[in-house]
Amino acid sequence: MTERYADVIIDIAHEKVDRIFQYRIPETLSEAVRPGIQVHVPFGRGNQDKIGYVVDISDRTDYPVEKIKEVASVEDRGITVESRQIQIAYWLKSQYGSTTISALKTVLPVKQKLRQLEKKRVVRSLSAEQTKQAAWACEKKNQRARARVLTALQTEEELPYELITHKLNVTVATLQALERQGYLKIERKMCYRNPVRFSDQTESRPVLNDTQRHIIEAVLGAYRAGEPGVHLVHGVTGSGKTEVYLGIIEAMIAMGKQAIMLIPEIALTYQTLLRFYKRFGDRVSVMNSTLSAGEKYDQIERAKAGEIDVIIGPRSALFTPFKNLGVIVMDEEHENSYKSESAPKYHARETAVEIASLCGASVVLGSATPSLEAYYRALKGEYKLYEMRERPGQSMLPAVHTTDLREELRQGNRSIFSRKLRELMEDRLSRGEQTILFLNRRGYAGFVSCRSCGHVMKCPHCDVSLSEHKNGMLVCHYCGYQERKPMKCPSCASPYLLGFKAGTEQVEEVIHREFPKARVLRMDADTTRKKESYERILAAFADHGADILVGTQMIVKGHDFPAVTLVGVLAADLSLNRNDYRAGERTFQLLTQAAGRAGRGDKPGEVVIQTYQPEHYSVVYAARQDYRGFYGEEIAYRALLGYPPVEHMLAVLIVSRVQEDGEMLGKEMTAIVKKEMGGDSALRVVGPAEASIGKLADFYRHTFYLRHGDYQVLVKAKDRLEAFCRERALKSQTVQFDFDPMNTY
Ligand code: ADP
Ligand code: ZN
Ligand code: ZN
Repeated sequence: MTERYADVIIDIAHEKVDRIFQYRIPETLSEAVRPGIQVHVPFGRGNQDKIGYVVDISDRTDYPVEKIKEVASVEDRGITVESRQIQIAYWLKSQYGSTTISALKTVLPVKQKLRQLEKKRVVRSLSAEQTKQAAWACEKKNQRARARVLTALQTEEELPYELITHKLNVTVATLQALERQGYLKIERKMCYRNPVRFSDQTESRPVLNDTQRHIIEAVLGAYRAGEPGVHLVHGVTGSGKTEVYLGIIEAMIAMGKQAIMLIPEIALTYQTLLRFYKRFGDRVSVMNSTLSAGEKYDQIERAKAGEIDVIIGPRSALFTPFKNLGVIVMDEEHENSYKSESAPKYHARETAVEIASLCGASVVLGSATPSLEAYYRALKGEYKLYEMRERPGQSMLPAVHTTDLREELRQGNRSIFSRKLRELMEDRLSRGEQTILFLNRRGYAGFVSCRSCGHVMKCPHCDVSLSEHKNGMLVCHYCGYQERKPMKCPSCASPYLLGFKAGTEQVEEVIHREFPKARVLRMDADTTRKKESYERILAAFADHGADILVGTQMIVKGHDFPAVTLVGVLAADLSLNRNDYRAGERTFQLLTQAAGRAGRGDKPGEVVIQTYQPEHYSVVYAARQDYRGFYGEEIAYRALLGYPPVEHMLAVLIVSRVQEDGEMLGKEMTAIVKKEMGGDSALRVVGPAEASIGKLADFYRHTFYLRHGDYQVLVKAKDRLEAFCRERALKSQTVQFDFDPMNTY
């Protein structure tokens, strides 16, 4: 019988969790020793008895066998919060591939110097009216940050400190200055338990409609019946999903349970957070990337100590160690940012399902455009599906117009605005209503295409579009390839081969030229580089500080602008020009979400989708707001080609200093898989080949793909390949695994 060894961490609260010790597992304990449990081991020279956590089990050791000590006994204290976190880390490592250390670091907070657990709040010292006056005075003196704080305090008597500092982006110095001026008080309390009092105690709680009540009851009913399950809420933007989440979480808290609320970072706005603070007061905490490591650690300690009931945050909030987790809610479930980009490359949805099953908690997924993954499983009956088709109250779904940009050119219109869009923009300006113009240009700044046939100029080596530079050259931003811009389209010889000069900046220029009276705000990576500007631009637009907001995909995420009655998508195709099996899905999502921005108030909205491919099914179904139709077509395509979610896919990326090394390694690895697993005819091996971005920062990239209907077969292949790489002790190459990748490499 082969020996088995346990990797043990002695002090989990140590600053470095990477001190792992190996112990032999005696025969008598071989059943009992599993990742996550606590064991007694002899430690150090004197063989002191210590308790440690088992983090991994293996049948090999890096140490001389005769020097390895044995596990003494198993400590049975039941499942501690730490045990569970280690189980989760172990699961991440086995399902996604990474080292034990990276998996542990993903799940366990980095220990920081012990800080005082305190929650602060900001309380206004003056009446609402006086505060308003003061805000106004600050505004006049151009003290914007002070004005922001006072404006917020005008409607709320007091606010959590973190909401002000992180979401209104106000410095501590500003707050202290306002305190000295006597406008407000910063109150410090050691973990006080009373919920924050908000001025409007009653809180504008809508009366839930039948659909909302039905969903809440179904989720809670299943939970109470001991079948917590996974629930998918498919609801158009503004259909009241957030109210459903609030209702479920509220009931969970009443049962003494806690909740994790996942929201993509970009949608963690002041308005959204305020809704949660108002409902749950001080029992809420927010986790986001602007928190320091110390603050994050602090929150985790608070969660462990039972001082908070709800944590709101992006992906990483998933690992908050609650004692009695009742529900994990995941809003905008389809978002790409839920997939980790570094090892372990886990997906928050799958991980949430795993964590929930360890804790006996429910999972609630919500989206206006569910991922193919979630909808596929819902239709198979693995998830429960709920549809919310209507918006509460008066607001109606917008009317959508598709305009064909090729036809515009034929009619002699060379503007970036189609005639329809221009007409509607003029109409909105004359009526004082707002417009959002959306430009999907991720990775496409300055790309060049033929205005007659739609042909896109691409790099012959990289399969990415070339960018036009001022000197008339077309340049590949990935590999540096250059060519002179041709006079005619290589595909149809039309002379209208033009740079799509529609970066947001250019769009802004054109608006100034064509609509001189319009006030324009622009939001893109450039204008939001500064920490505070994102919220500020949104706030300014919401206050009707502009007629038109131009921006990239950041503006389509869940913001609520009631006065917007027109949304224009300037070039809908741009995400289709990618060699990527999810491009159609991504385009459909973006278009649908963009359309969802129109008409959220009581006035009906209109949407104009400008495109070179009006016949593409993503465009057609988005224009009809027909998710089912889109899903049917897209899933048929995935099934035909064996792509996720119908089958599973493991992408293996080999990064090497020397090109031939990467090529060789790829060939060896695929050969092993074919030799040892090739008997399984359901296993498909594609590649190896140069990755679509074949060289990046002087490293060569090769890739191959394995596909199979059974995820665990791919996990086995990954384990085998990991073992192979270990034996090889690779030096100048690295190998990365990505299961069901968000894009092809
Ligand atoms: P979603 O999360 O689906 O975008 P929200 O929950 O944010 O939708 O609801 C959109 C708007 O409709 C919000 O302003 C919300 O207060 C309001 N709302 C939600 N449910 C109701 C209801 N039952 N009656 C009236 N208004 C509602
Ligand atoms: Zn290139
Ligand atoms: Zn052409």
